[in-house]
Amino acid sequence: MTEVERHSYDVVVIGAGGAGLRAVIEARQRGLSVAVVCKSLFGKAHTVMAEGGCAASMGNANAGDNWQVHFRDTMRGGKFLNNWRMAELHAKEAPDRVWELETYGALFDRTADGRISQRNFGGHTYPRLAHVGDRTGLELIRTMQQKIVSLQQEDQKRYGDYEAKLKVFAECTVTELLKEDGRISGAFGYWRESGRFILFETPAVVLATGGIGKSFKVTSNSWEYTGDGHALALRAGADLINMEFVQFHPTGMVWPPSVKGILVTEGVRGDGGVLKNSQGERFMFRYIPDVFKGQYADNEAEADRWYDDADKNRRTPDLLPRDEVARAINTEVKEGRGSPHGGVFLDIASRLPADEIRRRLPSMYHQFKELADVDITKEPMEVGPTCHYVMGGIEVDPDTAASSVPGLFAAGECSGGMHGSNRLGGNSLSDLLVFGRRAGLGAASYVESLERRPKVADADVTAAARTAVAPFDGARDGVAEENPYTLHTELQQSMNDLVGIIRKSDEMQKAIDKLAEIRRRICGVTVEGHRQYNPGWHLALDLRNMLLVSECVAHAALRRTESRGGHTRDDHPQMDAQWRNKLLVCSVADSDEVVPDVTIAAKPQEPMRQDLLELFELSELEKYYTEDELADHPERKA
Ligand code: FAD
Repeated sequence: MTEVERHSYDVVVIGAGGAGLRAVIEARQRGLSVAVVCKSLFGKAHTVMAEGGCAASMGNANAGDNWQVHFRDTMRGGKFLNNWRMAELHAKEAPDRVWELETYGALFDRTADGRISQRNFGGHTYPRLAHVGDRTGLELIRTMQQKIVSLQQEDQKRYGDYEAKLKVFAECTVTELLKEDGRISGAFGYWRESGRFILFETPAVVLATGGIGKSFKVTSNSWEYTGDGHALALRAGADLINMEFVQFHPTGMVWPPSVKGILVTEGVRGDGGVLKNSQGERFMFRYIPDVFKGQYADNEAEADRWYDDADKNRRTPDLLPRDEVARAINTEVKEGRGSPHGGVFLDIASRLPADEIRRRLPSMYHQFKELADVDITKEPMEVGPTCHYVMGGIEVDPDTAASSVPGLFAAGECSGGMHGSNRLGGNSLSDLLVFGRRAGLGAASYVESLERRPKVADADVTAAARTAVAPFDGARDGVAEENPYTLHTELQQSMNDLVGIIRKSDEMQKAIDKLAEIRRRICGVTVEGHRQYNPGWHLALDLRNMLLVSECVAHAALRRTESRGGHTRDDHPQMDAQWRNKLLVCSVADSDEVVPDVTIAAKPQEPMRQDLLELFELSELEKYYTEDELADHPERKA
């Protein structure tokens, strides 16, 4: 039998970003023993990179804000495809989750009268993002880690061991979930440094592994975002939904090439920055879609007044939801009005004093100074769309975060439903806190309800180890040897070019053919050397996850014959009400294959509860819903 280090916990949380840490805290506070596993260093998750802030309708900057307005904005942003129950819980609970962070020691920026300051962001009716300069995610992680240390200190007092009930396993990658009789029994992985195998025996796993950006060439995401949680869940028998919806953030750096894709926070526009084309035109006024007409200023004077008086003026179209802005930039560039390096200009220099820019946006100032030699207090930035966030993910119960596999829970970016077809900026950090907590609670309740814990079978451990070392054994199934870096580059290029921001049927079919070719060639992936810190081997293992999630994205995108949110089709440019309530569900048949076949099926969404539906004017719903769906609406009957 393979040599494997063994541990046993009540709950194992995979991922130490915002969702994972919040789940850990909750499960531990319920008295359970918890392990948190992360493939990067502890403290280095995507969440740390979040700049703009955390959306919560605290009403500090505008007393008109409340959960109902936040709920409406979120549903509009997602083009009414969101899981409405998740959007409801999120809008209601986000303010408490932000306050709670302050009890852990977070210190958000303040208004003049001492309340938590809130900034404007795209798609949010009122200034709503609680923030710490442009380093909000860092503060979120810092304080949750501090909370974890304080829980460990309590354990030291009680049990004489800091790690008696809560232990961090950093730089440790999980490659398989194990089951007995359909229920989660454990998780298998390896230490990145030594390559040694590790097994967690546990009845409950919370997946909080973040996104899939590394399947695309130009992305704001870092090396860890290879869709591991999405793929682990699929292979364990859970479903993914909404995988066709990938968010391209409108403002990534476009120059120099080495930093292409790195994010330029929406906070720049929230604080007054405006988009301009090569002719100096503020072009966003030409791109206000019909569904948002009336809510956005149609002239520069009103847009500028809005920053000082949001009650009497309509908001600037520079802050339309991200999908709209990304498409507008794409069109400007395509029509020859782009900046020298293939983006557009984002100008804050002419809008705010230099000191104010450095105070409000310190990271952006340094990012451009150091990486592009651009002083953003003096000249405009060059920006363009970058793959940023995946709306699709593991289908979960909104209240408990449980997937369809008993013992498997998911929260954060790897879960699906909350954001519908497009996420509003700032709604991820709040999502992590709200549903991270719920996942911790859900997992704890599940464990407490068990009469008997599922057991890990030795054969499953042996099989997981065999799959993990397979890339050292040379090419299999008679195919030629392949380098994992070459296959990864080809996969990223295809996804970027053929299933990117604007999609066409023939191009997506080409991508699917290419993915099928990569699927054949993946059996040839071979790595050299040993298991001790071997990045080529790590990539070989990540590659099968990226391939699986890319197939989900490409197949679902081809199937959805409309444009909505983060899915834009050149050949079906309109939003189609018949598609609004349809979810595309990705699943795989139980199999031992390295990359099992993906099946896509459509299913209807549960209709929105009546009291929530009535938060919207009928005239607005008519832009999204079919006639049949609205037949029973009270305004129709009246
Ligand atoms: P992450 O924070 O992505 O953490 C994932 C964790 O899973 C990591 O610890 C990783 O090591 C671990 N992991 C992954 N796979 C494995 C595996 N196989 N085994 C073990 N561990 C694994 N959102 C906002 O709301 N506001 C913002 O201002 C904002 N700004 C952003 C700026 C940038 C540059 C980026 C990239 C994103 C931003 N977002 C923002 C989005 C937001 O940061 C992310 O969606 C969110 O942080 C995801 O959190 P998470 O907890 O789901 O996962």
